[in-house]
Amino acid sequence: MTTQSIITPARDAAPHAFDAIIIGAGFSGLYQLHKLRDELGLNVRVLEKGAGVGGTWFWNRYPGARCDSESYYYCYSFNKEIEQEWSWSERYPEHTEIRKYLNFVSDRLDLRRDIQLDTEVKSAAFDDASNTWKVETVGGETFLTRFLITAVGCLSAANVPKFEGLENFKGAWYHTGNWPHEGVDFAGKRVGQIGTGSTGIQLAPMLAGRSQHLTIFQRTANYSIPARNRTVTPEEVDLTRKNYDDVWRRARSGTNGHPFTMSTRSAVSVTDEERRTIYEKAWERGGLRFRASFKDILENARANETASDFIREKIADVVKDPALLEKLTPRDHGFATKRPPIDSGYFETFNRDNVSLVDLKAEPIVEVTEKGIRTTKQEYELDIIVFATGFDAFTGPLLRLNLTGSNGYALKQAWAAGPRTYLGLQTPKFPNLFTITGPGSPSVLCNMPIAIEQHVDWITTCIRDMRAKGLTRIEAEPAAAEQWVEQVNAAANATLLPMASSSWYLGANVPGKPRVFMPYAGGFARYTDICNDVTKSDYRGFTRS
Ligand code: NAP
Repeated sequence: MTTQSIITPARDAAPHAFDAIIIGAGFSGLYQLHKLRDELGLNVRVLEKGAGVGGTWFWNRYPGARCDSESYYYCYSFNKEIEQEWSWSERYPEHTEIRKYLNFVSDRLDLRRDIQLDTEVKSAAFDDASNTWKVETVGGETFLTRFLITAVGCLSAANVPKFEGLENFKGAWYHTGNWPHEGVDFAGKRVGQIGTGSTGIQLAPMLAGRSQHLTIFQRTANYSIPARNRTVTPEEVDLTRKNYDDVWRRARSGTNGHPFTMSTRSAVSVTDEERRTIYEKAWERGGLRFRASFKDILENARANETASDFIREKIADVVKDPALLEKLTPRDHGFATKRPPIDSGYFETFNRDNVSLVDLKAEPIVEVTEKGIRTTKQEYELDIIVFATGFDAFTGPLLRLNLTGSNGYALKQAWAAGPRTYLGLQTPKFPNLFTITGPGSPSVLCNMPIAIEQHVDWITTCIRDMRAKGLTRIEAEPAAAEQWVEQVNAAANATLLPMASSSWYLGANVPGKPRVFMPYAGGFARYTDICNDVTKSDYRGFTRS
């Protein structure tokens, strides 16, 4: 596996001019580079902060990190040869295997020659006179480009809570989204883990098995579905390869970009016995598909309660200590109203002698001390603290790029009350800037690679059409963005998703962040139709010149 870029950052002061600059070399950036360079023949450069390709998966290397979409469809669909050449080894790919895949794709499409690694963007500003962006890097380079495309991911800005005294802690601390590449030795250590979202639920069993003692600091009890990870047989690989056209057809025609269909039945239209049989089967199969057991789990509170009740019973089957069980039982939100985790032995972990749980609702954290974490009740002595505290989702990775649009208007100003985009693709007053899977797009509610491909394809068509007409500027109209924000809100309000008040979908996990429901929840197929319709209507809602 090659991991080096062949481009060495030039340290000269002269600006480098490109047709397009792409920020980020994960799933989005790699595919966007291929489309613009190999299909449109543009002069493109990818600027990547990391020392390798992989994007989010370059940084997320914590023990147990793996994707919870299934491997056979957590990949690109645009290239039949890659599809036939690559084999996944497990039902859910581990972070190492995803990076291996993205490196394989980079080599296969000869992408590296246009990817500049170890290059962090410091700021970018639009120049109205020339309709170009000027991009500056931390290393002091300057780039001029007609189109600027952010491919920075939705979950890539780590959220480290500002606990008082963290700087005094004598042990080591890590955030899961920025994990040391050399790994961490937990042997003989007293470890504190803060956070029980998808990451924390994957991590806890791994830490419990490696450390002397694990203390899990839980603010909100969570639901989880068994992942039932396993190796994939050669026969399954062959079968998937033969059926890929059908896999992608199903993925694109559904709500979440997954190739499985949502049940057409309501959870409250069947008998208790039928419902249990259906849930038991989905539980045995494992994975996020559990959500598709009934059509209305995320639409009807009574239907949702049946799923929530079922999972609560399953937790009770596992956790032996009644006091612990009570703390671990989620009651303040319905199943899947926050992004549901999947796990491999999470609740079983609490039956171990070397694991304890601190309920932060009963005893909030006061400060980090030299020795560990002090809550309102006591001090917990620790050697290592692991923050599994999630991300400043959607807006965090974009705002830290320090983008300034038309007439010096900063993105921070534009989004002061929350993100306002048209289709998640563009923000008014930021001409020629495209955001792959930006706020207002289905993105995180979908199988990401499918959502990414749709965005990249749309952006590529848009740029191709502009160049064919000799146009040099495209900008979302404020009224179109206003209407889109209303549609995003309406789509969310038609579901139970806004019910989870501490969800990162709402930005509620980051203190002070405006509470705005950020992803588009109207379904992937519907969203694709809307985007295609915009293209056909000569880019309705965009001003081009
Ligand atoms: P998350 O879902 O936002 O969970 C963060 C956890 O940290 C929550 O339990 C949260 O508690 C807690 N927390 C945050 N701030 C805290 C504070 N100040 N004090 C105490 N606890 C605090 O983050 P995540 O688990 O990293 O997952 C984020 C998303 O990444 C997932 O939803 C998923 O989309 C993606 N992801 C995917 C995979 C995968 O594909 N396998 C794996 C990991 C992550 P509250 O619930 O009370 O806010």
